Amino acid sequence: MGRSGAAAARLLAGEGYTVVGFDSSETSTGSEHMNRTVFGDFKDSDLSSLSVLVLSPGVPISASISSRASELGIPVIGEVELALRHTASDVLAVTGSNGKTTTVEWLSHVIRSSSPAAEAIAAGNMGYALSDAVLDNPDCPVFVVEFSSYQLETTSSLKASSAIILNLTPDHLARHGTMKNYSTAKAKVFMNQDSGDSAILNFDDPLLVEHRNTSGGSQKYFSLKEEVPSGTWMDHSGMLWYKDKNGKVAVIHSSDLALAGRHNVANALAVICMAVSYGIPADRLVSGLKDFPGVPHRIEPLGTVRGLTWFNDSKSTNVDSLRVALESFNGKVILLAGGREKNSDYSVLNDLIREKVKSIVLFGSGAASLATQWKNTTEMSIVDGLEDAVKNAMLMAASGDLVLLSPGCASFDQYADFEQRGDHFKKLVQALK
Ligand code: ADP
Repeated sequence: MGRSGAAAARLLAGEGYTVVGFDSSETSTGSEHMNRTVFGDFKDSDLSSLSVLVLSPGVPISASISSRASELGIPVIGEVELALRHTASDVLAVTGSNGKTTTVEWLSHVIRSSSPAAEAIAAGNMGYALSDAVLDNPDCPVFVVEFSSYQLETTSSLKASSAIILNLTPDHLARHGTMKNYSTAKAKVFMNQDSGDSAILNFDDPLLVEHRNTSGGSQKYFSLKEEVPSGTWMDHSGMLWYKDKNGKVAVIHSSDLALAGRHNVANALAVICMAVSYGIPADRLVSGLKDFPGVPHRIEPLGTVRGLTWFNDSKSTNVDSLRVALESFNGKVILLAGGREKNSDYSVLNDLIREKVKSIVLFGSGAASLATQWKNTTEMSIVDGLEDAVKNAMLMAASGDLVLLSPGCASFDQYADFEQRGDHFKKLVQALK
């Protein structure tokens, strides 16, 4: 009964259904569109009259409610699937391990900036449920939708005009078992595509390129390293190009992009490839690529306070997002990291830490384990929480240093979500003024 559950209930109630809300948590609350609610354990009699069970993205298809509903012959679909059945607008679909929210927000911004009449709404896994988006914007011609692999598992009628897998890293392996299963789950983003649609893959990732034949759509790629057969790439001078059967065109130089960091060049290549495939002329993309304001909690600049430059990257919840954050800075960084550790090898960052990090302040339940994995890299201290982490950073820093919160871990040991963690950090930094 979170955001997506409430959105699904709203859509179903509007269609005239009687809505029953389920939540395994006894402390959850229903929404105004739920006629009845079931908290904690459910009984067969709660399910027997249902015509459909709609799963929120956080509920795995293996959850007992979902398997029991299937056994009782009740169709089980995801909230995004429900929303897709209620819109005839175009869908541009984005999935991957990292960069999804940045890409859907940037792509919708670029489309809206391409002409005064253009409209596009970003929705999906990034916090604005697609069910809400289609109800709030019935006339919007295109939705740019972020899909988690969980959401793809419960979706069947997606037919994206343009779909992309940005990258794959070993995050979420607990649920998907192997990288192969994980990439196959992500490749569902190409379902139902035909030759009028575009299927875009990261040319720099060999595991992804294996999926080039999974789509019936026209195949395109993006690459930070080399010219691709069709799609976008960055050349050695830093220029970003687009190419299709009509020829190639230089779109923008990486130094003119709104967001810094090589990972954001990859995101921009993804945005350009999606937007041109959707039919927007390359020269109409430039202003939106230049003036995108960025997304909060993703290497978000907080300005200079007490002679130090502060950045909030609370959305960094895995090894790869921490790696790209460190790679984005040239000077020496004071790194605040920790939280609930993922089952990953953090020692792969050791060389990068030696090169980029002056000192590390560790917090949260994963602190001791991170300290072990990063031993002999640089000066380190361990504290309980962010408040002390900020204090320690002040003690360790010299004027002109850069302080980066990029936890590399989930927030759930101490916060409801990464937004709450990032907002707490921002408050602590503001309080130093
Ligand atoms: P997602 O929605 O996939 O979680 P976000 O755009 O919210 O992606 O970014 C999540 C984290 O990953 C942030 O810390 C961000 O700096 C980092 N990131 C953004 N783009 C990329 C990318 N292309 N590759 C790796 N990390 C990225």
